[in-house]
Amino acid sequence: MRDNRSPYWRQRRAVGALGIGRRRDGAGLIRPPGRPTRPHRFFTVHLGFTAPGAADAREVAVAYAESLSLLRPELALGAAALSPADAWHRAERLFCGAVGPDGERCVDVADHPGFHHAPGPGGLGWGDGDGPGDG
Ligand SMILES: [Zn+2]
Repeated sequence: MRDNRSPYWRQRRAVGALGIGRRRDGAGLIRPPGRPTRPHRFFTVHLGFTAPGAADAREVAVAYAESLSLLRPELALGAAALSPADAWHRAERLFCGAVGPDGERCVDVADHPGFHHAPGPGGLGWGDGDGPGDG
């Protein structure tokens, strides 16, 4: 005859009363998700602001993009673009994005003079170093 007063049975009854424990199919409570997770896709956020002219708007937009990339690392800095508010189809990229020798992307502004620069302090520089960025 079994002794129901043992700690084992008290624990089994408590687990059953709470509705937790092993499932009927024998699977544990923690397991990998049933469906594979989707890979992340790119989305675009449109921010509106005012500026006296296109050159000023470009500087403000670069500052917004760089600031947000510091706060949110998932932000794709190279995908940042600027367009007039009523002409999104005229979007111009804000950053160079030239591909370096190790596959890194230049984080300097588009059409910058001199070397391309990899992200981070002391990042790799490459290119001719004279004339506008050669993309
Ligand atoms: Zn560059």
